[in-house]
Amino acid sequence: MRALVYDNYCVNDDYASVLQIKDIPEPAPKPNEVVFRVRAAALNYDDIWGMRGVPLKVPLPHISGSDAAGDVIAIGDDVTGIKIGDRIVSHGNMSCRLCKNCTSGREFDCKKRKVWGFETGPLWGGYCEVTHLPEVNAVKIPDGVSYEEAAACSMTLMTAWHMLVGRAQIKPGQLVLVMGGGSGMGIFGIQIAKMYGCTVIATASGDKLEKCLQLGADYAVDHRKEDWHKQVFAISKEFAKTKDGIPGIDVIFEHIGGLHWNKELTLLKYGATLVTTGATTGYDVITDLRHIFFKGTNILGSTLATKSELEDALYWVSKGKIRPVIDSVYTIDNAAEAHTKMLRGNLFGKIIMKP
Ligand SMILES: [Zn+2]
Repeated sequence: MRALVYDNYCVNDDYASVLQIKDIPEPAPKPNEVVFRVRAAALNYDDIWGMRGVPLKVPLPHISGSDAAGDVIAIGDDVTGIKIGDRIVSHGNMSCRLCKNCTSGREFDCKKRKVWGFETGPLWGGYCEVTHLPEVNAVKIPDGVSYEEAAACSMTLMTAWHMLVGRAQIKPGQLVLVMGGGSGMGIFGIQIAKMYGCTVIATASGDKLEKCLQLGADYAVDHRKEDWHKQVFAISKEFAKTKDGIPGIDVIFEHIGGLHWNKELTLLKYGATLVTTGATTGYDVITDLRHIFFKGTNILGSTLATKSELEDALYWVSKGKIRPVIDSVYTIDNAAEAHTKMLRGNLFGKIIMKP
């Protein structure tokens, strides 16, 4: 079968210098595994970290791809819940299922956790014609959801779902601030918060504001402007007039970090919540602690999600309440171009790659 493989890490993000199409044997299922023909896979930033070999030396030779969807073509002897012909998508959080974290519903905190297609290998990921997963990491794709949509959802949708539903426990009527609403995470953050009956302010760069509104955000603010937080607070004041008169934000969906962090803290109401899963513009932030202890602020960390959260979120995709956004579709033959596009960040939605 054809697979997108690299044998060495790249320098200066020259992906074309390391990516090759190779012919390798199709995998056979281990007793607990399903083997599936990949129909669509979605790019994630961990593909780039993998090729760089930084911050982690991934196993070589390597096949990337953590979000893959396709048709099951073989199953191991111990597989009971999935049959040949089922449409599945990967739940890329591969945990031991035995440790205390796993058995208390925190599989994302498993010390043995590996992200499939990033930390796994050699030659074990989604950018190939046929791949394999433990049954427990395969989620059935609901009817009405395409392979491309399922792949575009998996990692990003479940991460956003766990932040807002699992951790922040959003409620109808709350005012939610989605930072980076034009990003892969933000696209789902906006839609999840709207589905839960919240009012949503999204921040984005100027060229993505209109798209945030089309996804359902009630307001969109350009976070590249120095005083973006003042605009958000003014919106919250207006919103409060129609509710309880208390300005400020109930829940902030944060994955940016950097210079925005302390401004975000000033926007929270007393007893409000900030949930964070990333730091794309910097992790070494300044925090005015008065915003935390005076106001009884909840700062919640979040990473990935449980398999059942992915299943819950996909149900709402099948009902049309959450819509994955696909920026573009490539084949593995043009993978270097696809990854360069992701690196440059000039995209709205997920990049899909097909074998
Ligand atoms: Zn575990």
